[in-house]
Amino acid sequence: MTDFFSEGMPVGVLTAQPLDRVLDYTAPEGGCWRGAFVEVPLGPRKVLGVVWGDAQGGYDRAKLRAINRVLDVAPMRDEMRDFLIRAADYTITPMSAMLRLATRAPGLGDGVSMRKVYRLGQGAPDRQTDARKRVLEVLESYGGLSFTLGELAEQAGVSASVVKGLVKQGVVSEEDAPRDLPYPRLDPAMPGKPLTEDQAAAAAQLRADMASGAFGATLLKGVTGSGKTEVYLEAVAECLAQGRQALVLLPEIALTAEFLTRVEARFGAKPAEWHSGVTMTERRRCWRMVGQGGAQLVVGARSALFLPFQDLGLIVVDEEHDTSYKQEDGALYNARDMAVLRASFASAQVVLASATPSLESWANAEAGKYKRLDLTARFGAAVLPEMRAIDMRAEDLPGSRWISPSLQAAVRARIAVGEQSLLFLNRRGYAPVTICRACGHQVGCDHCDARMVEHRFQKRLVCHQCGETKPIPEACPSCKVEGKLAPVGPGVERLAEEVAEVFPEARLAVLSSDLFGSARALKEQIELIAQGGADIIIGTQLVAKGHNFPHLTLVGVIDADLGLQGSDLRAAERTFQLMRQVAGRAGRAEKPGLALLQTFQPEHPVIRAILSGDEEGFWRAEADERRVAGVPPYGRMAGIVLSSPDLQAVFDLGTEMARRDGPLRRVGAQVFGPAPAPIARIRGRHRVRLLVKADKGVPLQAALRDWAGQFRLPANLRLQIDIDPQSFY
Ligand code: ADP
Ligand code: ZN
Repeated sequence: MTDFFSEGMPVGVLTAQPLDRVLDYTAPEGGCWRGAFVEVPLGPRKVLGVVWGDAQGGYDRAKLRAINRVLDVAPMRDEMRDFLIRAADYTITPMSAMLRLATRAPGLGDGVSMRKVYRLGQGAPDRQTDARKRVLEVLESYGGLSFTLGELAEQAGVSASVVKGLVKQGVVSEEDAPRDLPYPRLDPAMPGKPLTEDQAAAAAQLRADMASGAFGATLLKGVTGSGKTEVYLEAVAECLAQGRQALVLLPEIALTAEFLTRVEARFGAKPAEWHSGVTMTERRRCWRMVGQGGAQLVVGARSALFLPFQDLGLIVVDEEHDTSYKQEDGALYNARDMAVLRASFASAQVVLASATPSLESWANAEAGKYKRLDLTARFGAAVLPEMRAIDMRAEDLPGSRWISPSLQAAVRARIAVGEQSLLFLNRRGYAPVTICRACGHQVGCDHCDARMVEHRFQKRLVCHQCGETKPIPEACPSCKVEGKLAPVGPGVERLAEEVAEVFPEARLAVLSSDLFGSARALKEQIELIAQGGADIIIGTQLVAKGHNFPHLTLVGVIDADLGLQGSDLRAAERTFQLMRQVAGRAGRAEKPGLALLQTFQPEHPVIRAILSGDEEGFWRAEADERRVAGVPPYGRMAGIVLSSPDLQAVFDLGTEMARRDGPLRRVGAQVFGPAPAPIARIRGRHRVRLLVKADKGVPLQAALRDWAGQFRLPANLRLQIDIDPQSFY
């Protein structure tokens, strides 16, 4: 394979356009290297591409168009290219979609953009004013640092014209500087917190693995508050000390603020950030700097895995069991698995951190593929909360109430001593169902097969599938009788109402993702709670994700049975993880915690495993069941969803696919279905699903490609393949 293409040579370019092939161009003036990011003409447009390799040929060479120009960004490295190819292969995603993921920053084609910065100039102003003095003081106190106009004016508390006046006299100098500045240096030599014996042993192991310079994966398991973050920051320190880059993935943007502060305390400066809450300018800066080595540490969401790291040495996947690591991103991938893949190409270490690992990671550690490190004790005096069930069959509670007398008493006892209680309910909105008391009609979404959820806060009904909202109707849409629509079942908003009635004196905080317009508002609410600004917290699964609430000593789980009802393969695992995570919120500081689970089935094996705290026992039992059933992680699975506005079309194709299953049968795989998907309609598209099961070690992707390739898709019909499906929606 050629690596350099001189001017005029034909060359294959991969673009991020939804075309299923590499396009041929001729190399531009000065030639181009394989891996270079380029701008190419495509029809009337100019699009981004990457020089992929030899031209495909088969065209009249004279008609080839030339690459417009090579972009001023670091070229794609072979390691990244190989990773993208393998990831595309594994997830059955077109390469163009992978490239889109890998170039998700605006203006990569722009030249290096400049902006004006201000620093201390020469001499003294002709006339000294208070405002001018403050500007000079700010510049002096920060030494040689430069500011943007806005930053300087704000720091000094003056208007921009004051600064401009000083520029005219040369007292403040105005210069052009590149907008995409490198991130401040992190200092890995700064001392960390003194570690406990457990923590130190785990950290030493991670440091040694890091120093090996080879690929390896470690499951870092430790109860919430055991200091996993402190420990993996030691691995980050080792990585940075070697001059390599590190990436920390977090499942939730709301967690980044606390993490940034901890990084700053540990390494003296904040790392680069990559997630949906970051401005477009910052995204471009991050992308470029990661590629040039101007960012040592990135903290980000799953798509940060596709950043063009120069020398990636470590990936930490925090809360590795979290379901948000698998979501549609233009490609359907599990960030945890992709992190391991990326690390293997980069000779990097992966640390998967969790209090409640996924069964996949647990099994990989059992099989010896991953190392496993356990932190058993909580840091300091904090101990794991005691866990007890509240048997709801024995509680005296009216039908429209959800806080049992036993739970009420426990909450009251905490309020009396100034401690916090968390009431956990994994249901957003006011009530999950709105029913007509006259005819029994349940208000559903017009576009989906889902019931509408009442959100009193917004005064609307909301579809949690497609986001469609409508006003709460006066009359029943079915029987037209007025005033008979009633909410059924609890949501966090309704629970808040009950709390306000039962505990009128208590200060209440509700933590539900949809109550916050911005990440900042959510962050403020979380800080307020951490500082003790609430007596009772009502939360959805948002609270399960690693926040530190030192005053929290009681967790009440309103409906511990909720997750057990799903037909989902992972229902038990999810419930187990969620309950343990939530319970882990209590008693993080010096005071012991208590977790109370309201349940109608206290004998259920999952509830019993949660209560007894026998984690290994739970996993072994769960692993045995899955091994017998031949399902992940002991067998392979793929979900196929066909969707179209045309119901007949999806069923016809589904039936056809089930019948012509030769390529699957050849590898011993079985296909089940077609069946209406659990949510049979989303946004007006009918959904049918097929499920493919195979033994472990079978080349399933190749078989799936051959199989799906046999069929011609009618217009408007979408076929989506989900490898290792996490849930069956
Ligand atoms: P995890 O990530 O396992 O939930 P953290 O690393 O967040 O645990 O630790 C929980 C709390 O205990 C944090 O506030 C952390 O700063 C503190 N902590 C943990 N280990 C130590 C230590 N060795 N010295 C001082 N504080 C610690
Ligand atoms: Zn809908």
